[in-house]
Amino acid sequence: MTENEGEYGKKNSGGKGKEYSIRCTSDECVIKYKGKIKHTKPFKWVPLVNAYGETAVKLFEILKIIVGITGMLVAFIALGKMPENLEGLEKYLLGTVILVIFYLSSILVLQGISLKSGTKFLKSLKCKRCRRNNAYEEREKPDIREDSTENSYTVKITRYWKCKYCGYLDSTESSENIKCFKIKKKKPTRVKCEECGATSLVSECRTPDMKIEDYPGGSNITETRYYKCDYCEHINIEAKKTHLNNMEPLASSKIKGRDPRL
Ligand SMILES: [Zn+2]
Ligand SMILES: [Zn+2]
Repeated sequence: MTENEGEYGKKNSGGKGKEYSIRCTSDECVIKYKGKIKHTKPFKWVPLVNAYGETAVKLFEILKIIVGITGMLVAFIALGKMPENLEGLEKYLLGTVILVIFYLSSILVLQGISLKSGTKFLKSLKCKRCRRNNAYEEREKPDIREDSTENSYTVKITRYWKCKYCGYLDSTESSENIKCFKIKKKKPTRVKCEECGATSLVSECRTPDMKIEDYPGGSNITETRYYKCDYCEHINIEAKKTHLNNMEPLASSKIKGRDPRL
């Protein structure tokens, strides 16, 4: 028997009109919301992908690694050969340009190394009806479902596809490259209840969740904590999203407000 159940149904968040639903009890918290479309024209930068499929993707990824390594070498050499007599702004600008070239090149290499996930993704875009390569395009926003219990935390993304040749409709379900796990509780903190408005010093009522989405060159980290109000027993959810860039690990980390998932 759960002592506290909050069902919000669908509502607007901050006037942005985003639809989501939260069902949160002491034992289990289920959040459903819409994600962003990522694949309107998959592999559009890869030449001949529609005709040659996997081979074209492999060649393109190898090309990326070669161009990336060349770029990194050029940046190294340029750094070594920087004229001694440069002063102030000129030195700063040249240094920045070299750093940017190095950074972009390293991203190309990282993208190239993810070759396996590229070919695997390409296979999933083959139409089940007309059997053509790279046929699926995303047709609507994906549904994301997060399930959190005391001991487990999972994220499931359902994407919706349409074949650009024959119009066949399909969908896929996966956790993509998202890592989810439970983290440790923090010390009690002051929380203003979003239901009754009272502020009290509360401990976290269940183990917090952490979600990490990696991309070449950085990652997005979402931390979710749960606090039960002392007065009305409403469970307040606090989600913090941090954006990390490998190039400047501290400078570009941003923390957004409540429930940035939504
Ligand atoms: Zn088709
Ligand atoms: Zn309250």
